[in-house]
Amino acid sequence: MKSLLVVPIDPAPLESFGMLKRELEQSFGLPVSLVSASTIDTTPAYDASRNQYYSSFLLSALVKQYPTHEGKLLGITKTDLYVPVLTYVFGEAQLNGMAAIVSSYRLDDALYGLPPNRGIFEDRLMKEAVHELGHTFGLLHCRQFDCVMHSSTAVEEIDLKSVHFCPLCRSALPNLRKV
Ligand SMILES: [Zn+2]
Ligand SMILES: [Zn+2]
Repeated sequence: MKSLLVVPIDPAPLESFGMLKRELEQSFGLPVSLVSASTIDTTPAYDASRNQYYSSFLLSALVKQYPTHEGKLLGITKTDLYVPVLTYVFGEAQLNGMAAIVSSYRLDDALYGLPPNRGIFEDRLMKEAVHELGHTFGLLHCRQFDCVMHSSTAVEEIDLKSVHFCPLCRSALPNLRKV
């Protein structure tokens, strides 16, 4: 049976899994389970000159770790991710593929000198997780400003969109329970 496996990339335990599980199960109609401890070595993805981790590297390491998994993989990391052409990324996914990765590093208001807010943080994490997983189901970026597939390059843009797919994006997800 197909499932969605959430893989914490860092050694630290994953907080907020409960709300993530509920949201992902509802969004994709797949059972969601959590890997208790990942054994992915992040060292080769680290770029000391940028003090960041190369997102595409971690994504392929994730697939190598679970090559026979049936369904989708979602890696979650607290580290700051980049791809060479961009200053940072909130996440990355294989279009129509098996795996996606999301970084929580830039989702916390504390990073921007504001008081930490767990509600806002979890809201952003859910949206980015659903967004990246949407790509693994073949969805591209959407022009609807409140659709979760709308592209976000700053947290303010994440806050503007909803955690839901617009009707057009939802209809393009073939295997979904229509919730
Ligand atoms: Zn995207
Ligand atoms: Zn849409």
